[in-house]
Amino acid sequence: PPAKKRASSSARVTVAGVALTHPDKPLWPEDGITKRDLAEYMEAVAPRLFPWVEGRPLSLLRAPDGINGERFFQRHGGRGVSPLLTQVKPRGEESSLLQVDKPEALVGLAQWGALEIHPWPARSTAITRPDRLILDLDPAEDLPFTAVVEAALVLREGVSAMGLIPFCKTTGGKGLHIVVPVSGASWKTLHDTAARICEALEAEAPDRFTTSSSKAVRGGRIFLDFQRNARGASAVAAWSPRARPGATVSMPLDWAEVREGLDPKAFTLRTAPARLKTADPWQDFEASARPLPKKG
Ligand code: ATP
Ligand code: MN
Ligand code: MN
Repeated sequence: PPAKKRASSSARVTVAGVALTHPDKPLWPEDGITKRDLAEYMEAVAPRLFPWVEGRPLSLLRAPDGINGERFFQRHGGRGVSPLLTQVKPRGEESSLLQVDKPEALVGLAQWGALEIHPWPARSTAITRPDRLILDLDPAEDLPFTAVVEAALVLREGVSAMGLIPFCKTTGGKGLHIVVPVSGASWKTLHDTAARICEALEAEAPDRFTTSSSKAVRGGRIFLDFQRNARGASAVAAWSPRARPGATVSMPLDWAEVREGLDPKAFTLRTAPARLKTADPWQDFEASARPLPKKG
Protein backbone atom coordinates (compact mmCIF):
# COMPACT_ATOMS: atom_id res chain seq x y z
CA PRO A 1 0.00 0.00 0.00
CA PRO A 2 1.17 3.58 -0.62
CA ALA A 3 2.78 5.27 2.35
CA LYS A 4 0.28 7.22 4.40
CA LYS A 5 0.74 10.93 4.15
CA ARG A 6 1.04 12.63 7.50
CA ALA A 7 -2.21 14.40 8.26
CA SER A 8 -0.39 17.62 9.05
CA SER A 9 2.04 17.65 6.14
CA SER A 10 0.24 20.45 4.37
CA ALA A 11 -0.70 22.32 7.53
CA ARG A 12 1.56 24.55 9.55
CA VAL A 13 3.90 22.33 11.58
CA THR A 14 5.37 23.49 14.86
CA VAL A 15 7.58 21.60 17.29
CA ALA A 16 8.06 23.04 20.78
CA GLY A 17 6.50 26.23 19.46
CA VAL A 18 9.03 26.53 16.62
CA ALA A 19 7.49 26.76 13.13
CA LEU A 20 9.11 24.41 10.61
CA THR A 21 9.42 25.20 6.94
CA HIS A 22 9.53 22.13 4.64
CA PRO A 23 8.95 19.70 7.53
CA ASP A 24 8.89 16.74 5.13
CA LYS A 25 12.26 17.50 3.58
CA PRO A 26 14.38 14.34 3.84
CA LEU A 27 17.62 15.06 5.73
CA TRP A 28 18.82 11.44 5.96
CA PRO A 29 17.06 10.24 2.80
CA GLU A 30 18.31 6.63 2.96
CA ASP A 31 16.98 6.37 6.50
CA GLY A 32 13.67 8.11 5.77
CA ILE A 33 14.39 10.82 8.33
CA THR A 34 12.92 14.26 7.72
CA LYS A 35 13.45 17.72 9.12
CA ARG A 36 10.38 17.23 11.26
CA ASP A 37 11.84 13.99 12.65
CA LEU A 38 15.03 15.87 13.55
CA ALA A 39 13.03 18.64 15.24
CA GLU A 40 11.05 16.08 17.25
CA TYR A 41 14.27 14.30 18.22
CA MET A 42 15.75 17.58 19.45
CA GLU A 43 12.66 18.29 21.52
CA ALA A 44 12.66 14.76 22.98
CA VAL A 45 16.33 14.62 23.97
CA ALA A 46 16.63 18.25 25.09
CA PRO A 47 16.66 17.25 28.79
CA ARG A 48 20.04 15.56 28.22
CA LEU A 49 21.41 17.46 25.20
CA PHE A 50 20.66 21.00 26.38
CA PRO A 51 22.79 20.85 29.57
CA TRP A 52 25.67 19.55 27.46
CA VAL A 53 25.75 22.57 25.12
CA GLU A 54 24.17 25.38 27.15
CA GLY A 55 26.28 28.51 27.56
CA ARG A 56 29.11 27.29 25.29
CA PRO A 57 30.23 28.60 21.91
CA LEU A 58 29.25 26.11 19.20
CA SER A 59 30.44 24.99 15.81
CA LEU A 60 27.41 23.85 13.88
CA LEU A 61 27.54 21.51 10.92
CA ARG A 62 24.83 22.75 8.60
CA ALA A 63 23.45 20.61 5.81
CA PRO A 64 20.18 22.32 4.92
CA ASP A 65 19.48 19.92 2.05
CA GLY A 66 20.38 16.81 3.97
CA ILE A 67 23.47 14.67 4.37
CA ASN A 68 24.00 14.27 0.62
CA GLY A 69 23.82 18.00 -0.06
CA GLU A 70 26.16 20.92 0.55
CA ARG A 71 27.54 21.02 4.11
CA PHE A 72 29.60 23.55 6.04
CA PHE A 73 30.63 24.37 9.59
CA GLN A 74 29.31 27.66 10.93
CA ARG A 75 30.50 29.18 14.18
CA HIS A 76 30.06 32.89 13.68
CA GLY A 77 26.96 34.98 13.87
CA GLY A 78 25.70 37.39 11.28
CA ARG A 79 22.71 37.74 9.02
CA GLY A 80 20.44 34.77 8.53
CA VAL A 81 21.27 33.12 11.84
CA SER A 82 18.36 31.41 13.57
CA PRO A 83 16.72 34.00 15.87
CA LEU A 84 16.50 31.31 18.55
CA LEU A 85 20.29 31.23 18.89
CA THR A 86 22.23 33.65 21.07
CA GLN A 87 25.20 35.48 19.57
CA VAL A 88 27.96 35.98 22.13
CA LYS A 89 31.36 37.62 22.05
CA PRO A 90 33.49 36.09 24.82
CA ARG A 91 36.48 38.10 25.98
CA GLY A 92 39.24 37.91 23.39
CA GLU A 93 37.02 36.97 20.42
CA GLU A 94 36.82 39.33 17.46
CA SER A 95 33.50 38.16 16.05
CA SER A 96 30.39 36.82 17.66
CA LEU A 97 29.95 33.12 18.28
CA LEU A 98 26.79 31.03 18.30
CA GLN A 99 25.22 29.65 21.44
CA VAL A 100 22.15 27.72 22.57
CA ASP A 101 20.68 29.30 25.72
CA LYS A 102 17.19 27.80 25.78
CA PRO A 103 15.94 24.30 24.92
CA GLU A 104 13.72 25.54 22.04
CA ALA A 105 16.90 26.73 20.33
CA LEU A 106 17.72 23.05 19.74
CA VAL A 107 14.56 22.75 17.67
CA GLY A 108 15.61 26.03 16.04
CA LEU A 109 18.82 24.28 14.96
CA ALA A 110 16.76 21.65 13.14
CA GLN A 111 14.73 24.35 11.41
CA TRP A 112 18.01 26.05 10.43
CA GLY A 113 19.45 22.87 8.91
CA ALA A 114 22.12 22.38 11.59
CA LEU A 115 22.50 18.62 11.89
CA GLU A 116 25.53 18.37 14.18
CA ILE A 117 26.33 20.37 17.32
CA HIS A 118 29.97 20.77 18.44
CA PRO A 119 30.47 22.73 21.66
CA TRP A 120 33.72 24.21 22.91
CA PRO A 121 35.10 22.64 26.09
CA ALA A 122 34.56 25.95 27.92
CA ARG A 123 31.67 28.24 28.81
CA SER A 124 31.61 31.60 27.09
CA THR A 125 31.47 33.33 30.49
CA ALA A 126 34.68 31.55 31.55
CA ILE A 127 36.36 31.23 28.21
CA THR A 128 39.89 30.97 29.63
CA ARG A 129 38.86 28.20 32.06
CA PRO A 130 38.07 25.04 30.05
CA ASP A 131 36.14 22.44 32.04
CA ARG A 132 36.24 19.32 29.82
CA LEU A 133 39.30 17.36 28.77
CA ILE A 134 38.59 15.35 25.62
CA LEU A 135 40.53 12.41 24.25
CA ASP A 136 39.48 11.53 20.72
CA LEU A 137 40.20 7.90 19.77
CA ASP A 138 40.51 7.54 16.01
CA PRO A 139 41.12 3.97 14.81
CA ALA A 140 42.87 3.14 11.56
CA GLU A 141 40.47 1.87 8.91
CA ASP A 142 41.68 -1.71 9.26
CA LEU A 143 41.06 -2.02 13.00
CA PRO A 144 38.06 -3.78 14.54
CA PHE A 145 35.98 -1.71 16.96
CA THR A 146 37.09 -3.99 19.81
CA ALA A 147 40.51 -2.35 19.57
CA VAL A 148 38.92 1.04 20.27
CA VAL A 149 37.06 -0.41 23.24
CA GLU A 150 40.33 -1.80 24.62
CA ALA A 151 42.03 1.57 24.17
CA ALA A 152 39.19 3.30 26.02
CA LEU A 153 39.58 0.90 28.94
CA VAL A 154 43.34 1.49 29.10
CA LEU A 155 42.74 5.25 29.08
CA ARG A 156 40.13 4.87 31.79
CA GLU A 157 42.78 3.34 34.03
CA GLY A 158 45.40 5.95 33.21
CA VAL A 159 43.04 8.87 33.74
CA SER A 160 41.67 7.41 36.98
CA ALA A 161 45.21 6.88 38.29
CA MET A 162 45.70 10.66 37.94
CA GLY A 163 42.80 11.28 40.30
CA LEU A 164 40.45 12.30 37.48
CA ILE A 165 37.10 10.75 36.58
CA PRO A 166 36.68 9.73 32.93
CA PHE A 167 33.45 9.24 30.99
CA CYS A 168 33.03 7.53 27.63
CA LYS A 169 30.71 8.19 24.71
CA THR A 170 30.30 6.97 21.18
CA THR A 171 30.95 9.59 18.52
CA GLY A 172 28.33 8.42 16.08
CA GLY A 173 31.31 7.61 13.88
CA LYS A 174 34.30 5.30 13.94
CA GLY A 175 35.79 5.94 17.36
CA LEU A 176 35.04 6.85 20.95
CA HIS A 177 35.50 10.00 23.02
CA ILE A 178 36.80 9.96 26.58
CA VAL A 179 35.53 13.08 28.32
CA VAL A 180 36.96 14.16 31.66
CA PRO A 181 35.34 16.94 33.71
CA VAL A 182 38.03 19.18 35.18
CA SER A 183 38.22 22.30 37.31
CA GLY A 184 40.70 25.13 37.52
CA ALA A 185 42.37 24.33 34.18
CA SER A 186 43.83 26.79 31.69
CA TRP A 187 44.02 26.04 27.96
CA LYS A 188 47.71 25.30 28.43
CA THR A 189 47.37 22.93 31.38
CA LEU A 190 44.41 21.22 29.69
CA HIS A 191 46.34 20.64 26.48
CA ASP A 192 49.54 19.61 28.30
CA THR A 193 47.70 17.09 30.45
CA ALA A 194 45.87 15.57 27.48
CA ALA A 195 49.15 15.33 25.58
CA ARG A 196 50.87 13.73 28.56
CA ILE A 197 48.17 11.05 28.92
CA CYS A 198 48.25 10.15 25.23
CA GLU A 199 52.04 10.24 24.86
CA ALA A 200 52.44 7.94 27.87
CA LEU A 201 50.16 5.41 26.23
CA GLU A 202 52.00 5.71 22.93
CA ALA A 203 55.34 5.13 24.69
CA GLU A 204 53.95 2.05 26.42
CA ALA A 205 52.48 0.40 23.30
CA PRO A 206 53.75 2.10 20.14
CA ASP A 207 52.50 -0.82 18.08
CA ARG A 208 48.92 -0.03 19.14
CA PHE A 209 48.82 3.74 19.63
CA THR A 210 50.12 6.84 17.91
CA THR A 211 49.81 10.53 18.65
CA SER A 212 50.86 11.41 15.10
CA SER A 213 48.03 12.64 12.92
CA SER A 214 49.87 11.45 9.82
CA LYS A 215 47.70 8.85 8.10
CA ALA A 216 50.84 7.04 6.96
CA VAL A 217 51.90 6.06 10.49
CA ARG A 218 48.36 5.31 11.61
CA GLY A 219 48.10 1.94 9.87
CA GLY A 220 46.87 -0.70 12.29
CA ARG A 221 46.96 1.77 15.19
CA ILE A 222 44.67 4.05 17.10
CA PHE A 223 45.38 7.74 16.69
CA LEU A 224 45.08 9.39 20.11
CA ASP A 225 44.00 12.89 19.16
CA PHE A 226 44.49 15.35 22.04
CA GLN A 227 44.16 18.44 19.85
CA ARG A 228 40.50 18.91 20.84
CA ASN A 229 41.80 20.58 24.00
CA ALA A 230 42.49 24.00 22.62
CA ARG A 231 40.67 27.29 22.46
CA GLY A 232 38.45 27.23 19.38
CA ALA A 233 38.52 23.44 19.06
CA SER A 234 35.39 21.41 19.66
CA ALA A 235 34.05 17.90 19.96
CA VAL A 236 30.64 16.67 18.92
CA ALA A 237 28.04 17.02 21.68
CA ALA A 238 26.66 14.07 23.60
CA TRP A 239 23.29 13.22 21.97
CA SER A 240 24.09 15.19 18.80
CA PRO A 241 23.10 13.44 15.58
CA ARG A 242 25.77 12.94 12.91
CA ALA A 243 25.29 13.91 9.29
CA ARG A 244 26.31 10.40 8.30
CA PRO A 245 24.43 7.45 6.84
CA GLY A 246 22.42 5.65 9.51
CA ALA A 247 21.65 8.87 11.44
CA THR A 248 23.90 7.74 14.27
CA VAL A 249 24.22 9.89 17.39
CA SER A 250 26.98 10.45 19.93
CA MET A 251 25.83 8.49 22.98
CA PRO A 252 27.02 8.74 26.59
CA LEU A 253 27.79 5.26 27.92
CA ASP A 254 28.06 3.57 31.25
CA TRP A 255 31.55 2.06 31.58
CA ALA A 256 29.85 -1.35 31.90
CA GLU A 257 28.74 -0.91 28.27
CA VAL A 258 32.29 -0.28 27.09
CA ARG A 259 33.18 -3.89 26.35
CA GLU A 260 33.44 -6.36 23.52
CA GLY A 261 30.30 -6.33 21.41
CA LEU A 262 29.64 -2.59 21.84
CA ASP A 263 28.06 -1.46 18.58
CA PRO A 264 28.19 2.32 18.15
CA LYS A 265 25.88 2.11 15.12
CA ALA A 266 23.09 0.92 17.39
CA PHE A 267 22.60 4.47 18.73
CA THR A 268 20.63 6.41 16.16
CA LEU A 269 18.17 9.25 15.94
CA ARG A 270 15.43 6.61 16.03
CA THR A 271 16.75 4.38 18.83
CA ALA A 272 18.36 6.94 21.15
CA PRO A 273 15.20 8.43 22.72
CA ALA A 274 14.41 5.06 24.37
CA ARG A 275 17.50 5.59 26.55
CA LEU A 276 15.81 8.60 28.16
CA LYS A 277 13.71 6.10 30.13
CA THR A 278 16.77 4.71 31.89
CA ALA A 279 19.06 6.49 34.35
CA ASP A 280 21.56 8.86 32.78
CA PRO A 281 24.97 7.13 32.97
CA TRP A 282 26.53 10.62 33.02
CA GLN A 283 24.35 12.11 35.75
CA ASP A 284 27.40 12.61 38.00
CA PHE A 285 29.41 14.30 35.27
CA GLU A 286 29.37 17.86 36.67
CA ALA A 287 29.98 16.68 40.23
CA SER A 288 32.98 14.64 39.04
CA ALA A 289 35.11 17.63 38.05
CA ARG A 290 38.57 17.44 39.65
CA PRO A 291 41.62 19.69 39.39
CA LEU A 292 44.33 18.57 36.99
CA PRO A 293 47.21 16.86 38.78
CA LYS A 294 50.49 18.75 39.10
CA LYS A 295 53.11 17.57 36.65
CA GLY A 296 55.69 15.13 37.97
P1 ATP B 1 34.93 9.68 14.60
O1 ATP B 1 34.65 8.75 15.75
O2 ATP B 1 34.41 9.12 13.32
O3 ATP B 1 36.36 10.08 14.56
P2 ATP B 1 34.64 12.36 15.52
O4 ATP B 1 33.52 13.26 15.85
O5 ATP B 1 35.58 12.06 16.63
O6 ATP B 1 34.05 11.01 14.90
P3 ATP B 1 36.95 13.53 14.22
O7 ATP B 1 37.25 13.72 12.77
O8 ATP B 1 37.87 12.65 14.98
O9 ATP B 1 35.43 13.01 14.30
O10 ATP B 1 36.93 14.96 14.87
C1 ATP B 1 36.89 15.12 16.28
C2 ATP B 1 36.12 16.36 16.61
O11 ATP B 1 36.80 17.47 16.04
C3 ATP B 1 34.72 16.41 16.01
O12 ATP B 1 33.76 15.83 16.89
C4 ATP B 1 34.50 17.88 15.77
O13 ATP B 1 33.92 18.51 16.89
C5 ATP B 1 35.90 18.43 15.58
N1 ATP B 1 36.13 18.72 14.16
C6 ATP B 1 36.73 17.94 13.25
N2 ATP B 1 36.79 18.54 12.05
C7 ATP B 1 36.21 19.76 12.22
C8 ATP B 1 35.99 20.89 11.36
N3 ATP B 1 36.34 20.89 10.08
N4 ATP B 1 35.37 21.97 11.90
C9 ATP B 1 34.98 21.99 13.20
N5 ATP B 1 35.17 20.96 14.04
C10 ATP B 1 35.79 19.87 13.56
MN1 MN C 1 37.38 11.01 16.36
MN1 MN D 1 40.07 13.14 15.45
